[in-house]
Amino acid sequence: MAEIIDGKKIAREIRGEIRAETARLRDQTGAVPGLAVILAGDDPASGVYVRMKEKACREAGFASFTHRLEDETDEAELLSLIDRLNGDPEVDGILVQLPLPARFNERKVIEAVSPLKDVDGFHPLNLGRLLRGEEGFLPCTPLGIVELLRRSGYPPDGKHVVVVGRSTIVGKPLALMLARKAEGANATVTLCHTGTADLGAVTRRAEILIVAAGRPNTITAPMVGEGTVVIDVGVNVVGQTAEGKRILAGDVDFPAVAEKAAAITPVPGGVGPMTIAMLLRNTLSAFRRRVNFPA
Ligand code: NAP
Repeated sequence: MAEIIDGKKIAREIRGEIRAETARLRDQTGAVPGLAVILAGDDPASGVYVRMKEKACREAGFASFTHRLEDETDEAELLSLIDRLNGDPEVDGILVQLPLPARFNERKVIEAVSPLKDVDGFHPLNLGRLLRGEEGFLPCTPLGIVELLRRSGYPPDGKHVVVVGRSTIVGKPLALMLARKAEGANATVTLCHTGTADLGAVTRRAEILIVAAGRPNTITAPMVGEGTVVIDVGVNVVGQTAEGKRILAGDVDFPAVAEKAAAITPVPGGVGPMTIAMLLRNTLSAFRRRVNFPA
């Protein structure tokens, strides 16, 4: 039976480190990191994520500024809010909760956020910096996955890592981060997608298998080799409890794959909590730059 990689516990440790560092910097500078979150529309999952981010900010000692847009707010008003936040000295990070309602042009909105406050790491300038191996904000979910591997004792260095999924927010930046010439990276990466012929033949050769496909049971036991480390990024709503709570599942057939893998992340409680921890970490880095206290 596989070791269960406890993302919740590791994320709690990281958040504790961030809280301690924030208190130390507050004592030295009199200021705290500030994160502004913009929520548009009434997507219930987005509402849950935003509340989780507000709570994480409070616990870390950050200032949190949530902007819930009215239904009639148009794109020009959203862009002018972002412009104001870009210039607000108490705001170190700006996060626009995605997906946005259809009346907004997502690309235009993401590009309006200052790359210096883009703690989600979605701005093309930061993604370009990642491609070029330069310093910039890295997207939180891939960053959290790499950190999870390191802290759970499965560093990717020298390993064959297979990533399933090539989205701009998870699969592609993750592949680039894992392939960097750096400690805690240095992996040999194979990137799979729906055009991959015989996905199982590729995933069976993985030493570390990371799945971000957005479909339950994309990876079944026959597709996994003995002793593989499996990271399940997927978050799929597969039902509802009698009390109306969402039942979540990842992209991996967890019970069957856990019989073969060396280690595996659960859903929920694996990658998800790491994403929020990395959002705090990126915001803390932006704050360090503001108060001129490099790490
Ligand atoms: P996405 O934009 O829908 O991309 C899915 C990718 O998976 C695509 O590249 C697609 O290939 C590939 N794919 C889908 N089915 C496949 C299959 N059967 N075989 C091979 N490749 C397949 O999704 P995303 O935004 O990357 O998110 C992926 C999952 O991670 C979702 O469940 C999402 O909710 C979850 N997620 C979790 C977190 C977290 O913090 N835990 C954060 C972000 C996302 P094509 O490109 O060929 O279509």
